Amino acid sequence: MLYQRSSALFAEAKKFIPGGVNSPVRAFKAVGGDPIFVKEAKGAYLYDEDGNQLIDYIASWGPLILGHAHEPVINAVIEKAKKGTSFGMPTEIETELAQLAVSMVPNIDKIRFVNSGTEACMSAVRLARGYTGKDKIIKFAGCYHGHSDSFLIQAGSGAVTFGSPNSPGVTQGTAKDTLLADYNDLDGVKSLVDANSGEIAAIILEPIAGNMGCIIPKEDFIHGLRELCTQEGILLLFDEVMTGFRLGKGGAQEALGIDADIVMFGKVIGGGLPVGAFAARAEIMSHLAPEGPVYQAGTLSGNPLAMSAGLAMLSELNAKPEVFTSLAEKTEYLHKGIAEVLTEKGVVHQINRFGSMISVHFCDEPVVDFASSAKGNNDTFKRYFHGMLDQGVYLPPSAFESYFLNDALSYADLDKTIEAVKTVF
Ligand code: PMP
Repeated sequence: MLYQRSSALFAEAKKFIPGGVNSPVRAFKAVGGDPIFVKEAKGAYLYDEDGNQLIDYIASWGPLILGHAHEPVINAVIEKAKKGTSFGMPTEIETELAQLAVSMVPNIDKIRFVNSGTEACMSAVRLARGYTGKDKIIKFAGCYHGHSDSFLIQAGSGAVTFGSPNSPGVTQGTAKDTLLADYNDLDGVKSLVDANSGEIAAIILEPIAGNMGCIIPKEDFIHGLRELCTQEGILLLFDEVMTGFRLGKGGAQEALGIDADIVMFGKVIGGGLPVGAFAARAEIMSHLAPEGPVYQAGTLSGNPLAMSAGLAMLSELNAKPEVFTSLAEKTEYLHKGIAEVLTEKGVVHQINRFGSMISVHFCDEPVVDFASSAKGNNDTFKRYFHGMLDQGVYLPPSAFESYFLNDALSYADLDKTIEAVKTVF
């Protein structure tokens, strides 16, 4: 395949935008080469600026669970746009989306909309601190919660891809309040809690991690965290930016059978427009301004276009929950197909999967945390990524990212993907 026009556009972009992109992972730094510039997309396919058709496994990093340019979502946005794009005043559709989200997700009474997953997590931590009156938080190495200062401490996703786990610009003062633990290591968390007794406001995690590949929490780990938080008066924060409205109506809380204290959303909840949200029991949410003293705000929060996309998306998922099963079945099919090919070709690998999240790791030990994920062979990953791209399959351009399947993918697309793996190896 040729990518001449993409490369030319990238060269031009670099003149005016740092690194040519507005979010680092897009730049292909981890895999080498120039990024693909998208012209348009429909269903399961991307069409790039050189006229190539690509089967898409990132779905805008998760939001487009029903495929690109999904008609009910697009129509809702068009109709809404005709009536004005932003007011900075309350609108009825905000309550409609809030009511629907609250009805789908267990254990939440109220929800506040923001513009991104970063904002959702940043605000949730402020709320947890304001609610508990404590300063410190525990996060896990390899978990990504957006790019706000408190979280850029051994974060996953682009932050590890670029080898700058602690970004310059994050002050020591901020970093000292973020304590780090290893995913799936309950004893490590208990030691931190003991050593900082009475000082921890929140434990925040991706309940199924997707930013160091897809990592599944061990039963004793995730249940242990819930127990520990309840015992110690610590709030348990589930970052469901990836898992929310993807693993099922009720996200990871439902899939794992665990109640979190604050839940953060992004991606699917905005149907491909900029939306994030955080939600909790009324008693916790009442601490938020203007009801309570914890300040949080946004000029474009609850934006009508974004709300209309989210409402169209969640309404369809709510009416057709079989989508979640269909997606999980497709992901399982892909898993089996890829595993069979890699095994047959003698390629050392691990595949992790939960619902419609999946990652392929080129290493021989189980991938259960950041350290084991980092052991993957990046040369093999690069060969795999570029080989797949040459066959018309767009995978996440970093070994630390989970794939996101969308329901527009057909079994023929999955077969073509599995065939492509065979060709690459
Ligand atoms: N939390 C998680 C789990 C994420 O995966 C991401 C983004 N990939 C974020 C937070 C940040 O969301 P955003 O990029 O919308 O700021």
